[in-house]
Amino acid sequence: MTHGTSEIGERKTKEDLKRLVETKVLVKSRPLLTALQASKNIFPDEFIGLFRGKWNGEAITIEELIIPPLSDYGNGFSSYAPWFIPPNTNSIGSFHSHPQGPARPSRQDLQHFASNGPVHFIAAPPFTIKSTACFDAKGKKIGFEMK
Ligand SMILES: [Zn+2]
Repeated sequence: MTHGTSEIGERKTKEDLKRLVETKVLVKSRPLLTALQASKNIFPDEFIGLFRGKWNGEAITIEELIIPPLSDYGNGFSSYAPWFIPPNTNSIGSFHSHPQGPARPSRQDLQHFASNGPVHFIAAPPFTIKSTACFDAKGKKIGFEMK
């Protein structure tokens, strides 16, 4: 029940978000390069995927790309059906492409970011590491390293 519990939950989330500013974001090369390749392949449509990984307090490590089933890739939009994502997915963030650029979140993206994990990537053409940006749940740009 429990209003109390929910308050604690919210407070924890806010602290977590603040902490994220000093949190390192590490991405293994395979999930990131796979997502970039998928973005190229599907161009000029928009690609979207989820990242799975670990968050140990000091660093977020992205280890795996999940391509949601029945995704709908379109010109200028993409979406997936959240009920097809297994509940134990532990998705830690998302990746999507902006075929028309720039690698900056739209207003819709910000709504999606706020409820889908702490780190979100947007890639613009030519879909390289340099044309990819990482954002926190509030849409603030944060750095990342590929390892
Ligand atoms: Zn977008």
